[in-house]
Amino acid sequence: MGRYTGPVCRLCRREGMKLMFKGARCETAKCPMERQNRQFPPGQHNWRRGRGSEYGIRLREKQKVKRYYGIFESQFIKYFQEAERGKSNTGASLLILMERRLDNVIYKLGWAPSRPAARATVAHGHICVNGRPVDRSSYLVRIGDKITVKDNERSKKLIKARLDELGDPHVQNWMRMEAAKLTADIVAMPTRDDVMIPVEEQMIVELLSQ
Ligand code: SF4
Repeated sequence: MGRYTGPVCRLCRREGMKLMFKGARCETAKCPMERQNRQFPPGQHNWRRGRGSEYGIRLREKQKVKRYYGIFESQFIKYFQEAERGKSNTGASLLILMERRLDNVIYKLGWAPSRPAARATVAHGHICVNGRPVDRSSYLVRIGDKITVKDNERSKKLIKARLDELGDPHVQNWMRMEAAKLTADIVAMPTRDDVMIPVEEQMIVELLSQ
């Protein structure tokens, strides 16, 4: 599975918002988004560009969401097609599908400092779902799933250290974590309100429905 390996702060500057790719560093003054002289899109002559076309504005909304969750176009289109097949609002369903990704869950539990780190944590086999190792970060959690850390010293030490460093993770209502046991249960489906990125999902639906 491919992944973006270029400079990540550039992506935040492109989208004009913090996408939190670097964990604790994103909260410090070292973050380019905190510096007045870096708060413009990357590349030469960007200051000359205007607001952009209607298409361009919709495209930016799509790119923002893809980068936030760390997924590529083909996977994103699959999520969109699945959301379209459902009976609920397509835009909200699309965001909820991505919210259910295992790497997103690991990040929200505080078991990794960022989504890219969560993705690596899953890929390196530190995480089990319902007792079985899962190394696919695109795994979509369901109600009743039990997320655990692999039963070995190295995995447990890694996740425990991250939890200690984070202090108090903001675990959302659809998950219940037992930090001492390094386990978490999915007790509900996430809702649109659980999606923290400011995005107008209707614009993405309009873009992809053309
Ligand atoms: Fe984005 Fe973090 Fe880089 Fe800031 S430090 S620009 S939030 S990746």
